[in-house]
Amino acid sequence: MNLNTPVEKLKGVGEKTAALLGKLHIFSYEDLLLHFPVEYTIYKEAVPVSQVKAGTISTVRGSVASVNGPVKAGRYNIINIVLKDGLFNLDVVFFNQPYIKKIIKVGGFYTFRGKITQKGSKIVMQSPKLFKDEEYRELLKYPVPKYGLTSGLSSKTVSKAVKAALADAQWDDEVFPDKWLDKYELISHSEALKLIHFPESMDDVNKARRRLAFEEFFYFIMMLRKNKSLSLSLPNCYKMIETADTARFIDAIPFKLTSGQKKTFEQIASDLSGPSCMNRLVQGDVGSGKTLVALLGLLMTAANGYQGALMAPTEVLAVQHYKTVKEYVQKYGLIFKPVLLVGSMKASEKKEVYRQIESGEANLIIGTHALIQEKVVYKDLALVVTDEQHRFGVRQREALAGKGKQPHILVMSATPIPRTLAIILYGDLQLSAIHELPGGRLPIKNCVVGTSYRPSAYKFFSDQISQGRQIYVICPKVEADEEDDGELENVVEYAEKLKDALPGVRVEYLNGKMKSSEKTDIMNRFAAGDTDILVSTTVIEVGINVPNATVMMVENSERFGLAQLHQLRGRVGRGSHQSYCIFVTSKEDDKTMERLKILNDSNDGFKIASEDLRLRGPGELFGLRQSGEFAFRIADIYTDADLLENTSALVDELVNDDPKLMKPEHAKLRESVERYVTKSETLRSI
Ligand code: ADP
Ligand code: MG
Repeated sequence: MNLNTPVEKLKGVGEKTAALLGKLHIFSYEDLLLHFPVEYTIYKEAVPVSQVKAGTISTVRGSVASVNGPVKAGRYNIINIVLKDGLFNLDVVFFNQPYIKKIIKVGGFYTFRGKITQKGSKIVMQSPKLFKDEEYRELLKYPVPKYGLTSGLSSKTVSKAVKAALADAQWDDEVFPDKWLDKYELISHSEALKLIHFPESMDDVNKARRRLAFEEFFYFIMMLRKNKSLSLSLPNCYKMIETADTARFIDAIPFKLTSGQKKTFEQIASDLSGPSCMNRLVQGDVGSGKTLVALLGLLMTAANGYQGALMAPTEVLAVQHYKTVKEYVQKYGLIFKPVLLVGSMKASEKKEVYRQIESGEANLIIGTHALIQEKVVYKDLALVVTDEQHRFGVRQREALAGKGKQPHILVMSATPIPRTLAIILYGDLQLSAIHELPGGRLPIKNCVVGTSYRPSAYKFFSDQISQGRQIYVICPKVEADEEDDGELENVVEYAEKLKDALPGVRVEYLNGKMKSSEKTDIMNRFAAGDTDILVSTTVIEVGINVPNATVMMVENSERFGLAQLHQLRGRVGRGSHQSYCIFVTSKEDDKTMERLKILNDSNDGFKIASEDLRLRGPGELFGLRQSGEFAFRIADIYTDADLLENTSALVDELVNDDPKLMKPEHAKLRESVERYVTKSETLRSI
């Protein structure tokens, strides 16, 4: 069996499981082995009931004194159990789980693990999981992996399949020279795969992570070097001159450009009129006004008689940009003739847009990925701007170049990365940075609170809503799943909870699993003010601009990276009203509070990212992804910053010594680099 063998061939994986795995894009042995756990549960010995504390996930053991219910309460059927442990009792509550009554017998001994909450003066355990004694003893031995799942699939099933694949797979494993393994203290590839899925301790997990992260960085940097040598050699096919249009636009807008905006646009204008094809990254914190800078570049392009494209990662964002541009055209008489092109448009609408693009009637094309699909024929595409989280691969470049000559590329990113790392990670791009925010904004007021603060927060919500404002609430999960232990809030149930708590308030929810058109509708209703509270996963983190929204509340904020929380916060404070950000945490230990307090004290994305970096030990907060921009499976540019720098230096050395990896001892290495480049370019050009 090799790595490309389909998962159906695995012992214990039937058609049904294979279909579920397929939903997670797991088709081959390799896909499965690279589906790393998102986190590990460390099961702990049961504690006496007298010692359980609210706000923790605890395990208790005792005999059942009574079982009452089910009793109907609103949408819930509630079963109440009293657990007896010596002299102490603990109330245990189950919601909508009628079968519990059949499983639990009065007088029987059980192990429960679940979330402890404070209900008035009482402590209650909510919807715990039930274990047999021997089963729980087994769990105590090792960290137990939790995988990214889909409804119907459990971590146990994934784990079994992985075990079968590890036993069955045969592959020629190590491609890195021994001297690297020694120097960087790395375990072998196959050992790392084994330990990441079946660790005996968190130390094993950390060793495995280090090796796998090293690999990811290595291949990624090798790919960048290749792109760099390609892009440096490209001549400027669309030489432009600066016209009066951009200066007129700058004069007409009711505010002054910040100095970062001014400087960045100067760099862009000089690239567009210079000898080589532009390949530039604009880094700027959320709200720093990157869109305007991009529009200036696009305006210069249109004024020179060419076409420009603005590519956004989501339809919602594309539509938002399109509206902004149309408004500007009306207000300031810009020469843009914009069109919108997104996947959810009707075929007839698309056809008309294609026609306008091909004929050159449209000189600004705004959209999603659809912009680089085969059917689109540009007349004269000279500048492509990608907004947030898009990296441009060689394939995408080729796809565009195939549509004409090589266009200029401008990438905009709000990912706060210290400059030393940016130079490595964006090695194939020229860098511009906008460090300051436009003046005259009211700073956002922040607070970090425990879950007991919720009632006050909801009161505050209704206050804001009665003043006409709107609110975002972020939860880490989409819906309750197979392994829910109540630790993480989910969007679906939270929206219901809010409706109960705030009758008459218009609540909607949004998550990444929804169809694109559905998401767009929900976002549009929110933007139009038809929804008061939007409960969402982090899908809204990217670039959304609803200036009337003044409150951002993040549940389980301990589960997010600080940089990501900062991005979320950037969704408010965009209008003239005072805005607020409430970080709710279900873990109120000192370390969590210290981390979150950084957000309280600073509004500077760059500073927040590096402080986060300082506070996070390796392997800690494992599974947190700081930035969606770099599609690393396991490496984290912040946590693994030192590894990233080491790997970069190593690649320099390697490429100096053997630029094309033609030495015999690098044969295996060359093969795997080529494989990686092909694979990731295919992935990127979906
Ligand atoms: P981001 O960099 O996060 O993409 P945007 O481009 O969405 O930020 O800009 C955020 C808001 O700031 C927009 O409403 C925009 O009109 C406004 N803005 C941009 N530049 C300035 C400026 N120089 N002064 C005042 N407001 C500005
Ligand atoms: Mg933006």
